[in-house]
Amino acid sequence: MKIAVLPGDGIGTEIVAEAVKVLQALGLKFEMEHALVGGAAYEAHGHPLPESTLNLAKQADAILFGAVGDWKYDKLERALRPEQAILGLRKNLGLFANFRPAICYEQLVGASSLKPELVSGLDILIIRELTGDIYFGQPRGRRSSPDGSFAGADEAFDTMRYTRPEIERIAHVAFQAARKRGKKLTSVDKANVLETFQFWKDIVIEVHAQYPDVELQHMYVDNAAMQLVKAPKSFDVIVTGNMFGDILSDEASMLTGSIGMLPSASLNSANQGLYEPSHGSAPDIAGKGVANPLATILSAAMMLRFSLNQPEAADRIEAAVKKVLTQGLRTPDIYSEGTTRVGTREMGEAVVKALA
Ligand code: NAD
Repeated sequence: MKIAVLPGDGIGTEIVAEAVKVLQALGLKFEMEHALVGGAAYEAHGHPLPESTLNLAKQADAILFGAVGDWKYDKLERALRPEQAILGLRKNLGLFANFRPAICYEQLVGASSLKPELVSGLDILIIRELTGDIYFGQPRGRRSSPDGSFAGADEAFDTMRYTRPEIERIAHVAFQAARKRGKKLTSVDKANVLETFQFWKDIVIEVHAQYPDVELQHMYVDNAAMQLVKAPKSFDVIVTGNMFGDILSDEASMLTGSIGMLPSASLNSANQGLYEPSHGSAPDIAGKGVANPLATILSAAMMLRFSLNQPEAADRIEAAVKKVLTQGLRTPDIYSEGTTRVGTREMGEAVVKALA
């Protein structure tokens, strides 16, 4: 089991160090190799995703990723910005299926911005298509507007597009995931306005014929955004395109209280995956030893389950995380009165201890 460990920038190095400790404490045989990515790689090699890092990622069974980015790189040309490393890994490894569970832990119900009764027991999974849609569609660019009432004015444009195979494969992933959970899939689209998403909807309906045991519901994205804060527990699995998934998964993350608790997995068709917390590099708290490492530790659990075929070890990590929360340990982002405030390292060490 070979794991490429790419801590990245900001809090990435701090939180990945804790996840690595947890993996090492499992008593399994892993080969873990570290490499630079993002701003750290740009500083050392002049590129956010150097050839050596990409090769390591390609050879590994799974990638444990921290986070990349810092405001100081905002003026770099787009191709050299740290965030390009993630897009490069997704593209090169064909990581088309992004899994973002949003689970509200009983112990953290009070940390959600919604009323406790709305989020207590919340356990939903958002599956976002990750390599298509308007983020990658061509053509895109800036030009002088060729027609219309503003002909001749400067304009910018992107292209929303999906091919049939792209929709079919994400639909299969979503139906299969729903089958293993509550057997209810909500496909989120904007078929009332966008041709691309009428096509999306038609194909999801076709694929559904192979999964008659899963209940399929269609919802427009504006309604889905509303329902996520009105009745989030009415969802089980949500599947949607790249852009809608980007927005809805961040919205869902806030239902659970802290973005510091949310893991994610991005998988290709060979189940090779990139596992990372849902948050960024948090430059505002980097180096202070206060970042919550649990999202990264839970991402390591997802890695064991999805890419390394070690479901029992994944269960152990998830149980250990629940145990430390029950013990009342909290990093500042999830702290509330009556609990014990701890730092990144103490939290990681508590999870290691709880594994035993
Ligand atoms: P962010 O997720 O880094 O931070 C948002 C807020 O959440 C901040 O207040 C931060 O302190 C807090 N936060 C995030 N993770 C936390 C944790 N584990 N524990 C406690 N608090 C936590 O988003 P941002 O501030 O918009 O972006 C910062 C940088 O990260 C930017 O350069 C951005 O491009 C990059 N980014 C990277 C990724 C990634 O690597 N996948 C994702 C999003 C943003």
